[in-house]
Amino acid sequence: MLGLMQDRPLVLPHIFHRAEQLFGRKEIVTATADGEQRITIAEWAQRVRRLATALDRLGISADGRVATFCWNTAAHLELYLAAPCTGRVLHTLNIRLFPDQLTYIANHAEDEIVFVDRSLLPLLWPLTDKMDTVRHYVVIDDGADVDIPDDPRILDYDQLLAESEPFAGQFIVEDENTAAAMCYTSGTTGNPKGVVYSHRSTVLHSLISLIADGAALSERDVVLPIVPMFHANAWGLPYGCLLAGSTIVFPGPNMTPKAVLELLASHQVTVTGGVPTIWMGALPMLGDYDLSHLRVLLCGGSAVPKSLSEAYREKLGVPLLHAWGMTETSPIATMSTRRSQHDELTEEQRANVRAKQGQPVPLVELRLVDPDTGDELPWDDVHTGEIQAAGPWIAKEYYRGEGGGSQYTEDGWLRTGDVAAADEYGFVRLVDRTKDLVKSGGEWISSVELENEIMAHPKIAEAAVIAIPHERWVERPMACVVLKPGESLTAEEVLEHLKPRVAKWWLPDAVEFIDEVPKTSVGKFSKKTLRDKFAGYKLPGADA
Ligand code: AMP
Repeated sequence: MLGLMQDRPLVLPHIFHRAEQLFGRKEIVTATADGEQRITIAEWAQRVRRLATALDRLGISADGRVATFCWNTAAHLELYLAAPCTGRVLHTLNIRLFPDQLTYIANHAEDEIVFVDRSLLPLLWPLTDKMDTVRHYVVIDDGADVDIPDDPRILDYDQLLAESEPFAGQFIVEDENTAAAMCYTSGTTGNPKGVVYSHRSTVLHSLISLIADGAALSERDVVLPIVPMFHANAWGLPYGCLLAGSTIVFPGPNMTPKAVLELLASHQVTVTGGVPTIWMGALPMLGDYDLSHLRVLLCGGSAVPKSLSEAYREKLGVPLLHAWGMTETSPIATMSTRRSQHDELTEEQRANVRAKQGQPVPLVELRLVDPDTGDELPWDDVHTGEIQAAGPWIAKEYYRGEGGGSQYTEDGWLRTGDVAAADEYGFVRLVDRTKDLVKSGGEWISSVELENEIMAHPKIAEAAVIAIPHERWVERPMACVVLKPGESLTAEEVLEHLKPRVAKWWLPDAVEFIDEVPKTSVGKFSKKTLRDKFAGYKLPGADA
């Protein structure tokens, strides 16, 4: 017997029409080089409608890939809706990738058109001759003082919209499994792989930013998405804001800690989200701003150090809200909000819980699997294994079958490559990535835990731990440490600080002081770059 409910597809036109119909007077603000642009959702929706017909006029195929090379702006959000609502596929190019990766990705996705912020044109233009399938480059004028080449492939965004009639009526996407957006993810090996989100996966995932045991976005919120819109759809925040009717503030190109803090204060932002690096950078200046309206600081993408979250709790009264996920998981998979079982804990114990990645959000299923035997492991906070994930917004394969399916199990779960333990409530504690663990004498050392403990030192700004080959132990940990400005510390002092905090055999064999931990294109610690930098490094006593 079948249920007798309406079979309405879960598609992005719903999010668009809902925002247009219910929240037209709400504002979208974009910070620009010379001030701020303000637009109401009603005006923004008209531009989305014009953009929809513009894509038709330019002859973009029915399911053509519409690429963006943009900052977080209201115009980028126009593309977020216009491309999928007309059946096309939004492809957000990561502006921080290397030229070779960008041209590979654009060709692999067969992008037909690229929308580019004027300030980013100098980065993109030298690559365009290698982008084989792109026919048009549409420049969005963000006021940057950048010359625009005289080339017939180049169009002006505002002019294009002005020349296009607004699409009238309702956008229709019949099949909720139609592709809506794609995002490439760079692994440590091989070429970047395309993750293709569907309308259904995106709509369901958007709801997650509205749940109470999450960011709980509401119409009253003012939201500043700092996480880039080219990184897993800015963690779903833009679509979530449109669903909830929240006011959106986009940071535009200037994402320095000072600029971010100014926006948080001047717009009385209530919810924001970004990788730990952003919050580390902003920490020393927190006292200079009135941030009393902030209620959620969403943080993830890499482990949130306990000391960082605690510093925010002490200074603002709001800790960082830790979330875990990956491009393949849309990305939100777990969130670490406080639950009733934490009420009896001390503040110190709660801080430990907050440093965990959190509990799987509704509709996401996780399991821990022993990488050697393939057995499922108990959730006892002790056993550690690879996290595997399943759910309606988890990828089932990569675009064009890249990777040969090796990242997916036979029963269709995603192998995340992240190693974790989980407590009886399913609160996940990430120990490491499979490839970043240090295997010393057959036992695993968690580089993430070591980094956390090192970063708890008041004079240390950042720390990254990598494995160095060792004749006797196979691998031993080496700590790369960045000091806070004006501070000094010796390697011995770092080790003294660690001694009461970790097992003796976990103590790094060497401590190197560096100016900065290299970051990936999405602002995470690039262990790969550090491993390359220290290739051939000799540990003291390594040949013993
Ligand atoms: P990406 O697809 O670029 O977003 O990278 C996903 C990877 O980032 C995950 O597989 C994790 O290794 C790492 N990651 C994301 N969130 C967290 C977190 N909260 N704590 C630790 N690592 C994280």
